[in-house]
Amino acid sequence: MKDIFGYTLEELEVFLVEMGFKKYNASQVFDWIYKKNIFDFSLMSNISKSLKCFLNDNFCANLLKVSKVVRDEKSSKYLLELSDGNKIECVLLKHDYGNSLCVSSQVGCNMGCAFCESGRLKKVRDLSLGEMVLQIVTVLVEECIRIDSVVVMGIGEPFDNFDVLKRFISVITCPYGLEIGQRHITVSTCGLVPKIKEFASLNTQVNLAISLHAGSDEVRNKLMNINRVYPIKDVFDALDFYISKTNRRVTIEYILIDGINDSEKDALDLVSLVKGKLMYVNLIPYNETSNFTFKRSNEFKINKFYDILKKNGINVIIRKNIAGGINAACGQLRAKESA
Ligand code: SAH
Repeated sequence: MKDIFGYTLEELEVFLVEMGFKKYNASQVFDWIYKKNIFDFSLMSNISKSLKCFLNDNFCANLLKVSKVVRDEKSSKYLLELSDGNKIECVLLKHDYGNSLCVSSQVGCNMGCAFCESGRLKKVRDLSLGEMVLQIVTVLVEECIRIDSVVVMGIGEPFDNFDVLKRFISVITCPYGLEIGQRHITVSTCGLVPKIKEFASLNTQVNLAISLHAGSDEVRNKLMNINRVYPIKDVFDALDFYISKTNRRVTIEYILIDGINDSEKDALDLVSLVKGKLMYVNLIPYNETSNFTFKRSNEFKINKFYDILKKNGINVIIRKNIAGGINAACGQLRAKESA
């Protein structure tokens, strides 16, 4: 059986035409699934009996199994089980301006960042297109809501699953589907330089965030293995290229870890990288986890770091830790479950 969520509209069109059906049947099926949330092919009243039979014989349309949900007032963290028993996470954040879902791109992660739970659990495999799309569909059905924006910041490195990522963006922006605006989608990477360039060349309006976490190679090498392959200068050259292609503002993510990357010098290093560029810094107080010794910077240091950036004309915010209480930092819930 094929997974109906594992097809872009174009792929489904090609397949259905090959099988003797009409091209427009694909958009009808998309409309039932993504707009009306009807997953039983027999109930799709505007398609022919023969197509219903064909879909029933060849496709499944199952949502993901919800293993666990942890909620607080403004967020819900889902632990979802895949058909092979692997587990992934996604987090729903309810903002005043809409619902945002943070999705995973892989089971585990191979990037090996020193502070991150997802990397402690090595990559088992990439997620399929269907598994990425189904995180959104499962949550919107469970919660009876619309998902307005998507961030690919869950478990995994999205640029290490690049082809699936591209098709995922195509499915979730499709006018016959979830119709999420490109500008409401953000992809976060640890800095795979060739993929940043490829992403820029797609000529979309999808936002890019980069997990920087240090303003110098010396500090970044200690935190992120990937920096030894693609040092900061190469990352910023690629970001300049992205900005020149898209004219979109890049988000620089910077976790503040006590005594590691939160000194005045660290702040000034960051200023010199970002100043004058179409970039915006998101300071994120580190979410402590039981498996690492890293500690969150105290409030005084966080505010001082912020002030230095601000005084130097950098666009910066301190990201409020909405979902910290429910272990929303990358990989934390899954790590706990498998501990
Ligand atoms: N691989 C991608 C996306 C997944 S990680 C990337 O590196 O961007 C999503 C974000 O959470 C990254 O910025 C990551 O560095 C951050 N993160 C991981 N563990 C964290 C923790 N314990 N506290 C706060 N942020 C964390």
